[in-house]
Amino acid sequence: MIVDIPKPSDFKLSGINYLNLSFSRVLRLLWHLDESEVCVWDSDGSVTSEYWVAAQEPLATAVTLLYQACEFLIKGLICEVSPYLLISLSPNKWPSGCSTKDISFSEYRTVDAQDLVKITNTVCENRLPDQFITLFDRIRRDRNKLTHTAKCGVVLIPDDILKDILNAYSILVQSTDWIEQRRNYLSNNYETIVYSSDHINCYYSWEILKVSSFLTPSEVTKYFGYNNKQRAYICPACDCIEKFKVAYLDPNKPNSESLSCVICGKLIPVIRESCKYCRGNVLSKSNICLSCGSPNEITKL
Ligand SMILES: [Zn+2]
Ligand SMILES: [Zn+2]
Repeated sequence: MIVDIPKPSDFKLSGINYLNLSFSRVLRLLWHLDESEVCVWDSDGSVTSEYWVAAQEPLATAVTLLYQACEFLIKGLICEVSPYLLISLSPNKWPSGCSTKDISFSEYRTVDAQDLVKITNTVCENRLPDQFITLFDRIRRDRNKLTHTAKCGVVLIPDDILKDILNAYSILVQSTDWIEQRRNYLSNNYETIVYSSDHINCYYSWEILKVSSFLTPSEVTKYFGYNNKQRAYICPACDCIEKFKVAYLDPNKPNSESLSCVICGKLIPVIRESCKYCRGNVLSKSNICLSCGSPNEITKL
């Protein structure tokens, strides 16, 4: 019999990990641009343009990882119906001796990636939407060109790849919890083994604000589940030196006494009192203004 048969959750986990790897690859490139403060001194944009030309190779790797992620996630959907649908070829081409001894699933040739959509839409209850089929086909063609031809004419744009990743996640994982899964990924991946996870909230705040800057408000709500048209505040629980504004009044009312943080996910009680240094009126329990970051003295008796 066939042994070591993969479960749908195995494919789903691998797919989500590959989406995260792809996302991290693009974000790392954007991070270098911010760290070098190139936007301050590159007045004509020539260095930034040169940077993105030189960064096409790592961007191509991000596309390959995204394609691989989609493959895993679609295989997970098929696997929910039956893992045997993933085995290709007729029985006379299965591994020799498969009818007389146990052979691992990995020894069998599996179906071609280009047939995955057809199989899914034939055997699964929910068909993949046209929007995804177009996306998957475009990524496949780009990946093939980038893999097989040095000068293929494909110019990769980082924002587009990030949007494709978020789109693929929202369709294939059918969930709006990108924020939470990404936090889990960053808090538990290989880097936290050698570094602590203390810096995660600061880095993650930068990441979400960076990606949000490429998205429309409706896309931010769709992918990240919050409304970035609302006034944002510094999160005292995240405690970032950079004072990123990633928390919102919850409920969003003028007298609301708590903030909900997009990054750490906490609901934080606040004091509604005017700041002495700005027009803000949302202070932390330790009297730090969550609009300008200035410490205020206690004025209430
Ligand atoms: Zn927070
Ligand atoms: Zn203030």
